[in-house]
Amino acid sequence: MHQDPLNREFSRLAITGMTCANCSGRIERVVGKKPGIYRANVNLASKKGMFEYDPNLIDEAEIIQIIEKTGFGAILDDEDHRGELILQEERVAKRVRLTLIISALLSLPMVIGMIAMLAGVHTPWVEFLHRPWVQLLLTTPIQFGVGIRFYKAAWASLKVKAPSMDVLVSLGTLAAFFYSVYNGFLGGDPTHLYFESSAVIITLILLGKYMEERAKNRTGAAIRSLMALQAKTAIRIDEVTAEDGTIREIFTEVPIGSVIVGDKLLVHPGKTIPVDGSVISGNSTIDESMLTGESLPIDKGVGDELFSGTINQSGALVMTSTKLDSESTLSRIIEMVNDAQGSKAPIQKIADQVSAIFVPAVIVIAIITLLISFVVIGDWGVAIMHSVAVLVIACPCALGLATPTAIMVGTGVGANNGILIKNGESLERAAKINTIVLDKTGTITEGAPKVTHFEVRKDGLLSEDELLAILVGLESHSEHPLAKAIVVFGESHSLEKPKIENFQALVGAGLRGEVGGKRYFVGSPRLMDEMKLDYMPFKRVVPEHESMGETVVMLSDEHQALVVITMADPVKATSKEAIATLKAIGINVIMLTGDNARTAAKIGVDVGLMPDEIVAELKPEDKASVVKELQAQGKIVAMVGDGMNDAPALAQADAGIAMGTGTDIAMESADVTIMNGDLINLSKMILLSELTMRKIKQNLFWAFIYNTVGIPFAAFGLLSPIIAGGAMAFSSVSVLINSLSLNRAKLTKKS
Ligand code: ADP
Ligand code: MG
Repeated sequence: MHQDPLNREFSRLAITGMTCANCSGRIERVVGKKPGIYRANVNLASKKGMFEYDPNLIDEAEIIQIIEKTGFGAILDDEDHRGELILQEERVAKRVRLTLIISALLSLPMVIGMIAMLAGVHTPWVEFLHRPWVQLLLTTPIQFGVGIRFYKAAWASLKVKAPSMDVLVSLGTLAAFFYSVYNGFLGGDPTHLYFESSAVIITLILLGKYMEERAKNRTGAAIRSLMALQAKTAIRIDEVTAEDGTIREIFTEVPIGSVIVGDKLLVHPGKTIPVDGSVISGNSTIDESMLTGESLPIDKGVGDELFSGTINQSGALVMTSTKLDSESTLSRIIEMVNDAQGSKAPIQKIADQVSAIFVPAVIVIAIITLLISFVVIGDWGVAIMHSVAVLVIACPCALGLATPTAIMVGTGVGANNGILIKNGESLERAAKINTIVLDKTGTITEGAPKVTHFEVRKDGLLSEDELLAILVGLESHSEHPLAKAIVVFGESHSLEKPKIENFQALVGAGLRGEVGGKRYFVGSPRLMDEMKLDYMPFKRVVPEHESMGETVVMLSDEHQALVVITMADPVKATSKEAIATLKAIGINVIMLTGDNARTAAKIGVDVGLMPDEIVAELKPEDKASVVKELQAQGKIVAMVGDGMNDAPALAQADAGIAMGTGTDIAMESADVTIMNGDLINLSKMILLSELTMRKIKQNLFWAFIYNTVGIPFAAFGLLSPIIAGGAMAFSSVSVLINSLSLNRAKLTKKS
């Protein structure tokens, strides 16, 4: 197909009416075949579909139409339609509950009659309950009232040549029903009636569906609790000039959607921060645990950043909004979690492939069972019941729930702990990690260095302030954390900044630029060495500060270093403990840095790393080659960085992990984002992904076991159709309960 990368649009739809994995697979196949569709991804558990299409060939409305024609409902999955969706879900739940009750009440007398018969009770009542017409009356509403949903769904699936499990249920129960009609009324053996089998199977499957529906709603709890954090309104402060010229402030409560960038907003204590912004006046402590998982409240004052969804605890704040609600950090997190929960893990391909060939295969097995049973036993009734049991036990429903429900719960638990996992594929990769490579600056350390020492060459032509002004001027063009430290240091010196020309960043080494036609360099002692620039007067400063774990930077002209400035970047409070925990769960830890070896060694020792776990003086591209080397040794490597100069390594690694405190680009492309930048969350993330993968494997195992072990038992008549129906309902429910148990997972140690 002609693919134009510029002509690509995404459509996210909420899909209703899906009952099992075949349904989602069917929508994918039918929509995916249409011209203009690049990708169709439908998730059963989240009831979401993601479609990537060429808007010149097809549009959203047409996609919805195709889905509806296939037998399902589709609604745009956005803010405006969410209410409609919830109402619709509630209506469906109510209807299912009602039909379930009716169906159970009608089946009950027949079950009682059957038990009484088996117990040898022969009162007139029991005889009455076994009359063909009584059973027909009780069964018919179930068979054709309740059961119609299966026939409809089955028919729709046959029409698009992707038979679903409904075909199995329909075939099985209809066979039992009509064979009983023949025996009861049309000259067969009236003592062989299977009405109650059909009624009970339908009731049980419905019960399974009902419980499944309820459990599935619980798997979405994480995203609902995130959405609940969003404030609905904000108090806007508008300034109006009265007729007498005085300025008054007017406070209006406005819907969150109407807040624009630059609005002045008032946030009372105890209230949610409505949009991302920064403090203009006031002081308070803010609870950011919902975004970062960080439990300690954070002090905020004028100039500090605020995030929507966090809670203002103690004081009133006036803030200015810096982002629209739809672009806020919280909205982006919700979006990410939403996408992750709707995504598929590669492991699910097994389940998808199996369920696509399952239904036709099972029908073939059922026919073979029917024929062989008849030949061996010589009784059509028994033969039919054997094949009905095969049809019912084989429903691949649990198979379809195995992966998506675990992914939903796993990514949800992650989000609640400030660990954002991009999608199922990322989760699967994260679970395989055995080596973690940590960037030093901003990952192990705070990434906010402070100047500790500043010295200039005494015999220079320029004054101390003039030299500092050149240094600060050059660094103000750089994004590097060291540059920021120098700029902050310069602010206290009221300098006149010189005009910088021909600025050039020397990535991983420093920078260069011209002031008044003279060329200057800023960078590490190593850069000075490489450029053969003399720094004799500072020779003593270098080892002295580097061995304290500080970074030494110099400013030089084309001949010699003129300024030396040293900076300390403190290690994050939890880094040492986090590294110990990672090692305790069997992960190799390596620290990479572009900084010099002496500084790296000191920091490394401080956080409990061995000399062979530290690699220093690396250029950004070298970081990627170190990762590559580790991979060549057979290691599965995760790279943790903040996106500053470590993007190539993040891309090279098997899993890229970004610090939420770092750059946006790193977060967009990372497999996992640790919102609060606390390395303790790395071990939690690994344990969570391992646990989730284990749940998926358990689920797949149980789903396969039910079907594959069940089929021969059913074929040999060792499994009554009623028990088969119960087992099937039970398998779906047990898979769901297994996934939900992830909610209680302890993420502190290897289990
Ligand atoms: P890290 O691995 O710590 O992120 P980088 O690769 O970003 O380190 O940088 C490596 C070294 O290059 C720094 O330790 C510093 O000596 C020098 N350097 C890089 N950028 C700058 C800058 N803007 N100003 C001064 N020195 C810099
Ligand atoms: Mg860095």
